Amino acid sequence: MGKIESVKARQVLDSRGFPTIEGEIKTKKGVFRGIVPSGASAGTREALELRDGGKQYFGKGVTKAVENVNKIIAPKLIGLDVVDLENIDNTMLHLDGTAQKSKLGGNAILSVSLACARAGAASKNQELYEFLGEVGGNKRFMLPTPMMVIIEGGAHAEESTDFQEFMIAPVGAKSFSEALRFGAEVYQTLKKILLERKLNANVGFEGAFTPKLNSNSDALELIVAAIEQAGYTPGKDIAIALDPAASEFFKDGKYELAAEEKSLSSGEMVDYLMQWIESYPIVSVEDGLAEDDWDSWVLFNKKAGRRIQIVGDDLIVTNTELIQRAIDMAAINAALIKPNQIGSVSETINAINLAKKNELRTIVSHRGGDTEDTFIADLVVGMGCGQSKFGATSRAERTSKYNQLLRIEEILGNKAVYNGKII
Ligand code: PEP
Ligand code: MG
Repeated sequence: MGKIESVKARQVLDSRGFPTIEGEIKTKKGVFRGIVPSGASAGTREALELRDGGKQYFGKGVTKAVENVNKIIAPKLIGLDVVDLENIDNTMLHLDGTAQKSKLGGNAILSVSLACARAGAASKNQELYEFLGEVGGNKRFMLPTPMMVIIEGGAHAEESTDFQEFMIAPVGAKSFSEALRFGAEVYQTLKKILLERKLNANVGFEGAFTPKLNSNSDALELIVAAIEQAGYTPGKDIAIALDPAASEFFKDGKYELAAEEKSLSSGEMVDYLMQWIESYPIVSVEDGLAEDDWDSWVLFNKKAGRRIQIVGDDLIVTNTELIQRAIDMAAINAALIKPNQIGSVSETINAINLAKKNELRTIVSHRGGDTEDTFIADLVVGMGCGQSKFGATSRAERTSKYNQLLRIEEILGNKAVYNGKII
């Protein structure tokens, strides 16, 4: 039993320097907090991120969301038991009463939900991952195979690639900490190569490099070179994963690849991706097609789904109805999971369970605008999702998640199960 004594929220900053909301819960065990991240290339069907508009912070303030927590949510939650997280989340969902949480804001609701989960764990004297596993009915804790971004472009970096994320997945590592080391070594090697070639080695939102390149495939060549120069074998030790975030460059029915001056139809985009899969050690493609281009997703999954992981992000936005649609249409074989796309911890857990029940792989993900909050590290282990997408091995809002996974790996000791694979 952990009765809520007080609920409040405040406006803080995210990693991009924009406002976001921190929820705070008090129980007799102490004070518990949760900070909500924010997408840079958000799907249109995500829960509403309530922003103030107006002049301050260029309209991006979240004081209305803070007020919704303090004035509307708080009075209804005081006295409830944090151990029953579903009841807390349902109370907030009913208070909001809209499909996209447009009354109170998905950011307002999630800030409280995250803090309550932490309070729930404390009241049961559990680690957060244990508590989340219990809420979600998962007993098999698992350290994830990390997909770590190393070159980023699209909406995450000016003048770099059209594709948003080029990631490395150390499929040859034997443990999470070893995978992290492989990734960090390749990251530093790539930096050296970029500087040697007189390319820009500055980093984007997620800590990955943002060189100005003439084509998207130049990024793949650079990554393969970095893997080899770091002493690893591409494909065997370290594979490549992509998130083109294709909705961002899908304009009037065409995929506009500005960096290489190409304008592709849906069928041509599928062929383009297929060609890449043939030519490089790619094991995973997320949002290779736009969020409304469902038929092309089905075609791509049919052509490539047995060989590689096909991940829905903007397509399904952690929403059980859209995940079910993707299952029914056989559009994907993996689901990206981002708590703030749906706006509460319980619904996030439901999305994971629906995906797993239907044999979709699950990948827990950060956002372009993230924070020091490490909740998703506990979520990925607690729910045994098997894969993480937490950014580059640099910038504290990204490494904070990796460092939390290292702590959990240590706590689990010889009970630590490591996934180690993508496909
Ligand atoms: C993504 O598309 O997977 C991503 C992390 O982007 P963002 O959070 O910026 O929408
Ligand atoms: Mg994505």
